[in-house]
Amino acid sequence: KTFQDLNLPEHLIKAIFEMGFERPSAIQEEALPRILANPPRNLIGQAQSGSGKTAAFVLGMLFRINIDTPATCQGLCVTPTRELAVQIFNNAVTPMAAHMPGLKVRLALAGETIERGAKLDSHMVIGTPGKVVDWLKRRIIDARTIKVFVLDEADNMVAESGHRANSLLIKKVMPKKCQSLLFSATFPDEVISFAEKMIHNPDKILI
Ligand code: AMP
Repeated sequence: KTFQDLNLPEHLIKAIFEMGFERPSAIQEEALPRILANPPRNLIGQAQSGSGKTAAFVLGMLFRINIDTPATCQGLCVTPTRELAVQIFNNAVTPMAAHMPGLKVRLALAGETIERGAKLDSHMVIGTPGKVVDWLKRRIIDARTIKVFVLDEADNMVAESGHRANSLLIKKVMPKKCQSLLFSATFPDEVISFAEKMIHNPDKILI
């Protein structure tokens, strides 16, 4: 399989090649047909870092985001650490969105502030669960326009009870028809039960 076989728009293929990716990795080959499907599929993926899972879900978010609409949140990604959120933004979203002028992405991390009454004005949010819950509660993020919800490193999310609880609160306000993707390196019992609460009727892939 090649990236051209995967139903990706030209601007994303161009960005991928500019990043030096020649072929989809194993997880991308498994996951992308489901991530890019219409109607969208929900997915639980077992994937180590280094597998190329980040590119798979970032391409999925960029594929669904319409930058011609006013900048409301259409893609939300939650991670267990601020470092991971920043890494996803810098190493995946920024280069993959190289040909999406006008795409606005916001990090939802401790220390990021938005003035009272101000709008988010972003198409995509990447952040940690606590800050995302705060912004959802304060209506800074409007959940109703979210089309893709990603939860990365579910095993590390479950390891912190605050993150676990906040993730479940986020899931509660995601629109029913929003696509949900969850990734984890390992699936001990507590991660399986968490994933089942987070993701409705998923395809499951193991690499
Ligand atoms: P990840 O598993 O998401 O942490 O990604 C691991 C590394 O693989 C990152 O540095 C990516 O830039 C790189 N990568 C992801 N997909 C591909 C691909 N299809 N071809 C070459 N490198 C890739």
